[in-house]
Amino acid sequence: MAQEYDLVVLGGGTGGYVAAIRASKLGLKTAIVEKRELGGTCLHRGCIPSKALLRSAEVFRQTKEADQYGITTDTPTLNFTKVQERKQSIVDTLHKGVQGLMKKGKIDVYEGFGRILGPSIFSPTAGTISVEMNNGEENEMLIPKNVLVATGSNPKSLPGLEIDGDFVMSSDEALHMEELPESIVIVGGGVIGIEWASMLADFGVEVTVLEYLPHILPTEDEDISKEMLKQMKKKGVNIVTSAKVLPDTIEKDHGITIQAEVAGETVSYKAERMLVSVGRSANVKNIGLENTDIQVDDGVIQTNEYYQTKESHIYAIGDVIGGMQLAHVASHEGIIAVEHMANNEPHPLDPEQVPSCIYSNPEVASVGLTEKAAKEKGYDVKVGKFPFQAVGKALVHGETDGFVKIIADKETDDLLGVHMVGPHVTDMISEAGLAKVLDATPWEIAESIHPHPTLAEAIGEAAMAVDGNQIHG
Ligand code: NAD
Repeated sequence: MAQEYDLVVLGGGTGGYVAAIRASKLGLKTAIVEKRELGGTCLHRGCIPSKALLRSAEVFRQTKEADQYGITTDTPTLNFTKVQERKQSIVDTLHKGVQGLMKKGKIDVYEGFGRILGPSIFSPTAGTISVEMNNGEENEMLIPKNVLVATGSNPKSLPGLEIDGDFVMSSDEALHMEELPESIVIVGGGVIGIEWASMLADFGVEVTVLEYLPHILPTEDEDISKEMLKQMKKKGVNIVTSAKVLPDTIEKDHGITIQAEVAGETVSYKAERMLVSVGRSANVKNIGLENTDIQVDDGVIQTNEYYQTKESHIYAIGDVIGGMQLAHVASHEGIIAVEHMANNEPHPLDPEQVPSCIYSNPEVASVGLTEKAAKEKGYDVKVGKFPFQAVGKALVHGETDGFVKIIADKETDDLLGVHMVGPHVTDMISEAGLAKVLDATPWEIAESIHPHPTLAEAIGEAAMAVDGNQIHG
């Protein structure tokens, strides 16, 4: 029997389930269709499990370095099975939490694969959802007033470097490794590549990163990317930039060998396994888009600033629309879309106010324009930079690498960008995010009193440094 809803959300990831909760709070009768598990990539194959592994790697590294804190230990040994069990128990706890939130919000969850149908006996417009149920029962028909497509993305592979789940992995397979390899080649030095390089190096794996562009983390500010290159090298990671991987040269035999063109020479790289982290593709296939007027360009669904597609009652958010493929962006977009459906007047998202974080060691966090992007936009910039080396709490922590960099407009004093590399910066970036939302100047950031001793003092000092007024540097 067909069920009627105000909203059906296709995909129960961080974008979809957050949107569903907001919709239910707004009084919309809401359902989610999810083919795998609620929580999606972020909870099961992305943010949470990878951060759990990174935390174990951090504890392992710090235990090895315990002597510098006056603590003598035997040489620590790694039990990777327990590391994986801990990761899974965190994922399971959060998964139960999301399931509980669906019950609390009276959101119906359909476990199956949803497809959008065109105009039919159920509705004169496209948007009825047919759900092929995972339990093999008859398809469910859902007739919604609005649809939200939040089907996410999947790891890209390169022709010739197809994921075999064994020698060649994407981050999906890497998260489920039962044992650590002795060595790994990572193709792609972006966010995933660097988080994995940092984690695996801390676990004691021999890591090589092959990055196509001249810099790792190419979308970050150049100073951050250079500092991360230095930090990764310090960990023993072999970073090769401007490396053109030659997929046809791959050989698999007790490990993999691959060649790459580097500085005009062909160089061979050998490792036990390979991780391919060259971006993610939007999940636009088989979901019935062809039955609608929805426009797909360059593999991603096109929307307006309220996330409406060409079919104004069908919205799309998150990785499936491209842009900043971040969990917190997807959930924010979901909230905007749902508020718009409910005839409220949400503020469109400003990409320059979106913080992004990399959970390597050291961490990276940023919001706003890089120095290069600011100059390209025509700003005459002034820059303040402050090192963690000069921050008392960083010395106390024993983590003094990195800095905070603040970029402002010389003419208006407007805050243009904040970029950080160092200890716990992913937890510190929200201050800069708030400053961007409130349109604060560096002077106002510095006026806000930063307690002593804290790592956040580096932000206050960098803000003063924009006008040469820093105290401790
Ligand atoms: P990415 O776009 O961050 O990095 C891909 C890298 O691969 C780039 O540096 C690119 O130059 C390089 N590359 C592309 N083709 C190559 C080739 N043939 N040989 C060598 N290098 C090549 O993508 P990702 O790291 O796969 O991450 C995917 C998405 O997931 C990103 O949007 C990322 O922001 C998101 N993500 C975010 C987090 C986080 O917020 N901490 C964590 C993981 C993933």
